[in-house]
Amino acid sequence: KRAEVPQSEHGIDRSLVDDRALKVVQTLADAGYEAYIVGGAVRDLILGLRPKDFDVATNATPEQVKALFKRAFIIGRRFRIVHVVFGRGREHEVIEVSTFRANLDVADAEQVAGNEKTSKSDLAGKSHVVDASGRVLRDNVWGPQIEDAARRDFTINAMYYDPQREIVVDYHHGIRDAKKRLLRMIGDPDARYREDPVRIIRVVRFAAKLGFEIEPKTREPIRRMAELLDNVPASRMFDEMIKLLQTGHALASLEQLRKEGLHRGVFPILDVVLDESQRHDGREKFVRLALADTDRRVSESKPVAPSFMLASMLWHDVLDRWERRRQQGEHPFPSLQAAIDEVFDARIGDISGRGKLAADMREIWMMQPRFEKRAGNGPIVLVEQPRFRAGFDFLRLRAEAGEVDAELARWWEDFSLADAPRQRELLDLAR
Ligand code: ATP
Ligand code: MG
Repeated sequence: KRAEVPQSEHGIDRSLVDDRALKVVQTLADAGYEAYIVGGAVRDLILGLRPKDFDVATNATPEQVKALFKRAFIIGRRFRIVHVVFGRGREHEVIEVSTFRANLDVADAEQVAGNEKTSKSDLAGKSHVVDASGRVLRDNVWGPQIEDAARRDFTINAMYYDPQREIVVDYHHGIRDAKKRLLRMIGDPDARYREDPVRIIRVVRFAAKLGFEIEPKTREPIRRMAELLDNVPASRMFDEMIKLLQTGHALASLEQLRKEGLHRGVFPILDVVLDESQRHDGREKFVRLALADTDRRVSESKPVAPSFMLASMLWHDVLDRWERRRQQGEHPFPSLQAAIDEVFDARIGDISGRGKLAADMREIWMMQPRFEKRAGNGPIVLVEQPRFRAGFDFLRLRAEAGEVDAELARWWEDFSLADAPRQRELLDLAR
């Protein structure tokens, strides 16, 4: 079943391959190991797209990989891999190196009564563990490449590119499916969704991002098995949601979720956007503008901050609750704080380790009423804030949606660019 596909057939333009990824493959090969570029990068290369990141697969163990590079770190428990780091600071780049894994049957795995609170002792010393529903909790048994290919999700994600020989190793007709623009699950879709329900979200993400069709047998179980997503830890679902929104095809992804019947209960945060019963016009327009803006930024290779996206999604929720409180006579500032607390409780829950994200969202929201006050020292203090830019971009979005006067956003733009005397002038004009 192993096919070695030559350049004349796969058509990969080697110049689209990142130098650092080439270096990692070369270093591993020189040390006598097998090494390939793998997964999403190969898929993108075959489609003529420039991959956003590169993963490498090898038969070297994490310890053997780590020994070959100056800055390499073994990370992950559920899925141990090595991060090889190049460069420093904002410019740094990470190549992920994973060891070929065995394709173990659920029956061969050790079973624990897994849930979010699965204890460390349940997992101690075990390398392949599933929970009662068959969901894989840990996957660290090494194996041959053919098995590594079989445990990947879709045929187009299971190809290996050897940049030195310029061949693609393809076990599951990935090249054929890429040409047909089809997402096809490797193996029995039912079983594969059961092993890892997040694949339900991944198929939606890839369909939206690549504009591919979902092959019928891969598509059929989606609706039926969606409830398995309830067993996935909230933090992993949260990460998947962020990925969905950062594909550069966020609007298309939401449409695809709706099309597959996944618009209710899967992502509580997105319910406010997707669910008809929770929709209202102002929110719909605002969120659409925010997502279109996000998609545009991705297409221009600009960074998109998850905090900004989430602040946009939940803004009308905050507004509604704030409004209600003010109508009951509460003071504007503390009532906004309280409205924000409520929204975090209702929509995000207690996701530990998201402190920074939540703080950034809060800051964006809390800045909004301050934009309405164009007098005194307030504006001067505001533009000096490190997060002013995010708050101001948010104000602009609100202006675009017709929520605040366009003149207000223009004034702040001028004010933020002005020198001190001109700032005084602008403050006088605004009076
Ligand atoms: P993207 O361009 O969005 O990063 P990707 O295909 O690279 O897409 P990753 O999440 O980075 O997606 O995963 C890298 C590879 O690992 C995939 O191409 C696939 O082969 C494998 N993989 C990732 N997640 C799963 C999963 N849940 N089940 C099976 N294989 C997976
Ligand atoms: Mg990737």
